[in-house]
This record gives sequence, C-alpha cells and structure tokens, in this order.
Amino acid sequence: MNCKNIFMKIIKKKIKSKIIYQNKKVTAFEDIEPKSPIHILIVPNKIIKSTNKINKKNKHIIGTMTYVAIKIAKKLNFYKDGYRIVINCNKHGGQTIPHLHMHLLGGKILGNFC
Ligand code: AMP
Repeated sequence: MNCKNIFMKIIKKKIKSKIIYQNKKVTAFEDIEPKSPIHILIVPNKIIKSTNKINKKNKHIIGTMTYVAIKIAKKLNFYKDGYRIVINCNKHGGQTIPHLHMHLLGGKILGNFC
C-alpha cells in the first residue's frame, strides 16, 4: 500500500482524521487547522499533485469533488447560507500539500479576497 503523503495516509486510514464522506473516487475530511467554522477538504483517492496535472483523461475528478462538496453542504445544512470552494495550486497559490485538494469553507460570512 502506497502512503507517500499525509492525505494518502488519511484516505487509507493509516492516521486518525475526521472523515466526513468517502467513496471510490474521493475522500472528504475535516481540516486539522480550520480557517472557518466549517472547513472540509475533498481529495481524490488517487494522487494527482495539483490542478496542473488535470488532463483530458482525469478532468472528471474536479466535477466529482465539486459534486461531493455540494452534497456535504446540503447534508450539513449550510448550503443555503452559502460557502466557498477553493483550490490552491503550487507556491503562488499557497498549496502546501502536493495532493490535489478542494477546500470547502463555510459557517460564517467570509471576507472577499479578490
Ligand atoms: P493548502 O494550503 O491548500 O495546501 O491546504 C492544505 C491544508 O491541509 C491546510 O488547510 C492544512 O490545515 C490541512 N492539513 C494539513 N495536515 C492535515 C491533516 N493531517 N489533517 C487534516 N488537514 C490537514
């Protein structure tokens, strides 16, 4: 079993984490250092390093991750108030873990950042 990075360890349940949802394609779990009252990460189960590695063959994963994020927002009942979905890419984007991940943030009014 290949557990190269921290997110792979979470996916494979090699380390403790608060998994919210998991299917064959993606895993969603609580961020260890939440930046808002609700902060969930959605990651593909197979490693894709960043959005730069999205191609014709694997592009469906972005749709699956988004679909799961919305499904969670509905299940946890914060979808009406709203939320923010963020994907950071590489150094300038603020990506610290080289495993593609989507941040699902909510639970308060988030300031505009652009
Ligand atoms: P990014 O800066 O976009 O690469 O986001 C990485 C995120 O992973 C940060 O928000 C971290 O707080 C989060 N993180 C790092 N290690 C863990 C962990 N073991 N469990 C849950 N979240 C983590």
